[in-house]
Parts: sequence; C-alpha cells; structure tokens
Amino acid sequence: MSGTVRIAGQVKHSAVDGPGVRYALFLQGCPHNCKACQNPDTHDPNAGTERDLDEVINEILSTKFLDGITLSGGDPFFQPEASLAIAKAAKEAGLDVWAYSGWTYEQLVGMTEEGILPPEHAKDVLAYVDVLVDGRYVDALHVDDDRRQECMWRGSFNQRLIDVQKSLAEGHAVQYTE
Ligand code: SF4
Repeated sequence: MSGTVRIAGQVKHSAVDGPGVRYALFLQGCPHNCKACQNPDTHDPNAGTERDLDEVINEILSTKFLDGITLSGGDPFFQPEASLAIAKAAKEAGLDVWAYSGWTYEQLVGMTEEGILPPEHAKDVLAYVDVLVDGRYVDALHVDDDRRQECMWRGSFNQRLIDVQKSLAEGHAVQYTE
C-alpha cells in the first residue's frame, strides 16, 4: 500500500483507548468542532505530521505485546483510505480494531444525511473495524470519573460502543457488550 497518512500522534501501548493493550494512532483532521474538545490541535487537516503509510503500518505491526489497535483523532474517518489500509493490515495480523468517530454509525453508513456528511468511502473502513465508538463529544453529557464504570471508553454519555460486524450483518446499529 503506498500513500501517506497525516497523524497527530501515537501511543504504542495504551490502556485507555479500549480494552487490553492497544496501539493508539491519532489521525489529524476533524470537522466536528465539538464544544470543549480536548484535542483542538487535531482539527486542522493540514497540521500534524505527514507520514509514509507503509512505515506507519510496519511500526504498528512490529510493536510487541498488543491486543489491538485504536484509530482515534481527530476523526480517523476523515482520512478513509489511510484508515482502511491500517485497519485492514491490523485485522490481517490478528489484532482487534477499535475506531473513534464524531460521526454516528448511521451517518457513516449513509442511513441518514443529517449533519456534516462523512467523506466518500468512509464506510468502507468499517469492514475492518470491530468496535466503533461513535458520535460527537457533548460536554453537557461528560462522563465524570465517578461514573466511568457506567460508560467505559467514552467521553460523553451520548456516545455508543457499536459492534460493527453485527451491525453491518443486521442492517442497523447493534451495541457492543463486553
Ligand atoms: S470529534 Fe473528537 S476530535 Fe473532533 S471535535 Fe469532537 S471531540 Fe474533538
């Protein structure tokens, strides 16, 4: 796979971006502009660092002791070709794939045209995603630490954990249960 990916950063062994030990890759660029976003530096699609896609994939696959990867951002679906290549390579290597998006599952698969539309091909990434953490961050619904167990892995209570493969098979969003 040739091409580039623009990234805001990465954490090689993250314990806070999904279950187990995960390579968290933060892709640059996000159009959602959620109030009180904690990563405003990731919004500008021209900022961050442009990296060779193969190099990034090789770095991920050569990282030891991983249970999975997490594509975050920014919004990884803003760079669908790069996200698809990374998610596919990770799945084929036996890693489990989570992805965060400010778009909902319904927006990504084109069930609704409400709000900002995702880029063409964004839904193709879902073929290689196990769990999607979906929806914009809503500050008024922020998950405080004392309620963290009720809403693991999410920033606000409106966000869902979607079992992507079940959802695609059944034709509607199915929530993921651990
Ligand atoms: S989707 Fe995430 S990165 Fe984008 S503005 Fe909202 S909170 Fe920030």
